[in-house]
Amino acid sequence: MITPQGVGRWDVGIEGEKIAVVAAAGALPAGAGRVIDASRLIVSPGGVEPHAHLAHSIMSHPDEPSLTLGPEEDTRGMACGGTTTHVDFAYVRPGSDIQPVVEQRAARWKGNSHVDYTFHVTLAGALPLRVFEQIPEAIQQGFPSFKVFTTNVLPPHPRRAGNRIDFGRIHHAMEKVAAHGGIMVVHGEDEDLVQWNYERFREEGRMEGSNLHLVHTKLSEMLAFRRTIALARASGAGVYFVHTSAREGVEAIVEARGLGLPVYGETLHQYACFNAEYYKTPRGFCSHTYPSLKFPEDQAALWDGLVKDGLSTLATDEYPTSLSLKLRGRTIEDVTGGNTGAEARIGIAYSEGVVKRGMSLARFADITATNAARILGLYPGKGVIAPGSDADLVLIDPDVRKTLARDDFHVSDYSPWEGWSVTGWPAMTLLRGKVIAERGKLLGSTSDGRLLTRRIDPAILRRPAC
Ligand SMILES: [Zn+2]
Repeated sequence: MITPQGVGRWDVGIEGEKIAVVAAAGALPAGAGRVIDASRLIVSPGGVEPHAHLAHSIMSHPDEPSLTLGPEEDTRGMACGGTTTHVDFAYVRPGSDIQPVVEQRAARWKGNSHVDYTFHVTLAGALPLRVFEQIPEAIQQGFPSFKVFTTNVLPPHPRRAGNRIDFGRIHHAMEKVAAHGGIMVVHGEDEDLVQWNYERFREEGRMEGSNLHLVHTKLSEMLAFRRTIALARASGAGVYFVHTSAREGVEAIVEARGLGLPVYGETLHQYACFNAEYYKTPRGFCSHTYPSLKFPEDQAALWDGLVKDGLSTLATDEYPTSLSLKLRGRTIEDVTGGNTGAEARIGIAYSEGVVKRGMSLARFADITATNAARILGLYPGKGVIAPGSDADLVLIDPDVRKTLARDDFHVSDYSPWEGWSVTGWPAMTLLRGKVIAERGKLLGSTSDGRLLTRRIDPAILRRPAC
């Protein structure tokens, strides 16, 4: 069992929805309740997925508007794969305000999620001052993380709402966030470099999607991360960089943390396990999300950051679609971004991190649950096995050896992880004391998930704390 006191042979007693006691093995009296024998299993805090886009409009094909799969479908996979909480997004664009947008998303999720959920507030476009004045209230109401894109990601299109917000507004949001206990969540790519690369590649006729990493480059990530960090330093804001993809990104984060700045990095299991060569294979775009897969040296840096220090979380950038929609686009402008992989996240982290790369079990729990809970303000209700915390657990069977197949997954009509060999896989998931999945069988319902509000520990925002 992985606890803050270390890893050991302990029993956990659950009363109602909470953990009541963590005791020496065999010390708990046989009560009236159910006893689950986990003696050959690893017991870790229920996974916290910090980055999901469910029921989200798909931006890669603006002439055929569609949505990613919703929480009723995708959270089946989360439950079976050991994730008990996910953080999605509520987009605030010019003309809208924070509170109604969050309420709309919460209404969409209510009764439709197998696991608990909450939302980052995304600030997109040329927002008026009024919206920034709403930031303190949003934090007060339990939504303290604010996502910004430093790039539009894709070239301009009349039917596509841009995601980018300018650095002037980002700085203004940082000042608000720093003063009121929030954190910035940043998609960092340099808009000028990305858009110039699109223009140049179009003119040169290099439109094949296998060039995505040459459009969404390492240099672009480096520039945007460092510019963001400089602004954060000036304003005192904490920053959480989503989907770090390049060695340069990890280096910028490590350097900022070395200066004592509250800067945190996320990467994705896709980015750690695949590189841009994979784009050339028949199903290669299944593993694409923006920015892009990079090079083997970047994978090495991401694993180094995950196993040792530098990166804090392993996320998915979940954006689930059908296989045909995922593979519809073939060019740098229309490959469908986003991953279908929240179900595989914990199993891949265990197999690739713990088994193959010697990641400690404590670190495994940190990158799959504890750190996301701490950085985003869900801790200690979530992300830890301790008395008083929600009884969210994932039991991992380290003896499972298999090549993942379609039957191992419960979302969409494909998984990018089909064919991947693993050692160890989630065997059981508990959400607030209820067994919601066992050995790939879904036992919970869409009424199990609950909306969570959050408050970030000031220690997270003072200096790098995890
Ligand atoms: Zn995303």
